[in-house]
Formats: sequence, C-alpha cells, structure tokens
Amino acid sequence: MSITPYEVSDDIDYQKIMKSFGAQKINNNIIKKIDNPLVGDYFYAHRDLDKIISYHDKHKEFAVVSGRGVSNQMHLGHLLLYKFNKFLQDKFNAKIFVPFSEDEKYLVKDLEFSCLKDLAFSNALDIAALGFDSKKTEFMFDTVNMKQPVFNLSVKASKLLTFNMINSAFGFNKSTNVGILHYPSLQIAHILHPTESTGLPVLVPIGIDQDVFVKLSRDVAGKQKLTKPASILSRFMMGLSGEKKMSASDPNTSIYLNDSPQKVKKKIMSAFTGGRGSAAEQKEKGGNPDICSVFEYLSLFFLSDKEKKDLESDCRNGNILCGDCKKCLLNKVNKFLENHQKNRSKAEKKLDKFMEPVF
Ligand code: SF4
Repeated sequence: MSITPYEVSDDIDYQKIMKSFGAQKINNNIIKKIDNPLVGDYFYAHRDLDKIISYHDKHKEFAVVSGRGVSNQMHLGHLLLYKFNKFLQDKFNAKIFVPFSEDEKYLVKDLEFSCLKDLAFSNALDIAALGFDSKKTEFMFDTVNMKQPVFNLSVKASKLLTFNMINSAFGFNKSTNVGILHYPSLQIAHILHPTESTGLPVLVPIGIDQDVFVKLSRDVAGKQKLTKPASILSRFMMGLSGEKKMSASDPNTSIYLNDSPQKVKKKIMSAFTGGRGSAAEQKEKGGNPDICSVFEYLSLFFLSDKEKKDLESDCRNGNILCGDCKKCLLNKVNKFLENHQKNRSKAEKKLDKFMEPVF
C-alpha cells in the first residue's frame, strides 16, 4: 500500500494508514463538539484537534489553512473541503488562509505557465462563492501575490529539511525536478504563516494523502518554536464509477462545478450503485449503500445524519430503488450548481477583497 501526495495505490486501508502515519481516530467527544455530519465519517482522523478545540473554548478563534492545488476546474469533491471550512468559520469564528499552489501543479503536471493565473482565479471564485467572510479569509496565489513573510518562512523551512528527509517522505527519484523537491518548503510556509504572523494555532483540514506536509510542518514548527499545526484528515471521496478515489484523469468520475445540467444527468444516470440486477431482486434482498456512489454523494453533500441513516436503512431493506435515489441526487445537484453559478458571478466583484491580508 503506497500513499503520498503524488501516488495513491488502489488497496487503501484507512485505519492502517492512520496508524502508520501516527494520527489519531476522531473520538465521540470531538464528533459532538464539532457537530458536523462530515466529522467521524469523511473526516476520520486527526492530530491535536482536541488542542484546537480547547484553544477555541478559551479564545473563541483559531486559524485554518486550506490550500488549493490548482490544475483544473473544481469538482464537487474539491468543494466539500471548502464547505467544511465555511462551516468552521461560521461556527468557530475561524480565520481562513487559502494559499493557491498553482506552482506545485505546474511542476508535476503538463500545464502551461501562462494558464496558471486564470485557472487559479477561476478556482478562487468557486471557493469565494460559498460565502466566506472576506474580513476573515485571505487568498494568496503563489505566482501572483506571494507574501514576503511566506517566502522568507519557506527559506527558513528549506534550511531545516534535508534531501534525505524529502526523499523518504515523498519517494522521489533521481529524475524528479528540483522544483518539486523544494516545493514542500513552500507548503510548510503556507501552513505555518498564520501562526508566525498572528500567534493563532492552525488547523489544516486535508486529505490523508497530503498528511506528510502536515507532519513535516510540525517538525519545522518545533524547530522554529512555533505552535505545531493540528490537522483533521479525510478519506477520499468515492468516484461515480464506484472506485474508492475519484480519478483525476477521468472527468466522468466527478461532477464539475461547470458541468451543464445535461452532462450532470448523464453522469448521475450512469453512476455505479450498490443496487441489484432487477427491481424485484432489490425489493427482496435490498441494496448495498457501502459501495454506492449515489449514496456517497447524497450523504456527503445533501443529507443530515438522520436522513443518511434513514436512506441507509431503506436501501438495505429494499424499500427504495436506485432510480429514485438517482433522480433525487440529480435534482439536488442541478439546483446546487445553478445556485453556485449565481453566487460565483456575484463573487467576481469581491475577489480583490479576499486578497487583502488577514494574517
Ligand atoms: Fe444506492 Fe439508493 Fe441504490 Fe441503495 S437504493 S444502492 S442507496 S442508489
């Protein structure tokens, strides 16, 4: 089993990964305290999240760093993370720092440098459309408005990282370009910047495959006498073809925020489900929501805990058919995307405000 920011093998065992990475399982106290349907299922592990909660109990704020690696338009899976960040801002008064690392994707993918800014701004509009408070949210684009303190911090971090540390953490080889060898120093600087500039402790909501950046940031923070960043780690979101992780190379496994209603319909109607071969068999034996991509989308985006439990039980007991679930998901997604596009247009006028420093 191999899992790094640049390579994820198929045989993912989340509990094994969590243990081997030295992260902790999210317990019931944390689930109750945060009270969000994503916590405990989608976000399943953490480092020092309990310390962030204790800090918030006393000081009523903390910082969140949630970077966006820009290589394409955003899909619903990407947006899920920022919906959670918006929830953290609303419920816990979190200040949010969003560094856009279009430079990283340029280094590892086949992208034109001249396209990076437009792509990054397009992603930024999708994030701003969720309604973040611009007074408590800062966007920084690595190739457009990199802050001097962030660059300086990356230089300090790079001096503390050896070639061997980076190589063993990421599994690079002799043909890896030197840009990507250096990139971790910058991501560490993104993560530590709010703490260095304001003293606020940082929480990083991040996919488990990116955990190595948080681990290295914690090492560097210790050496820099900064509070170590905490993290809340997510599993992958299932793709529409039923695979454990959406495929970045196959656009049909995800619903993009700029997909037309017709395209969404085509994708959802051909999505993989846990249903049986016929309606009669499904009514008799029930379906399997554990492997169903429609259930995954409905439960992560649109259902409360109770609604999720009800759907799960209806599915297992054969009280519902896959066609009904697909229609329900289709309506919800198209309504959401229509609304999202309106909010995105409104956000265009406000993008400058998100580039004003908060940290
Ligand atoms: Fe999935 Fe719904 Fe079919 Fe169950 S009934 S397998 S939840 S689509």
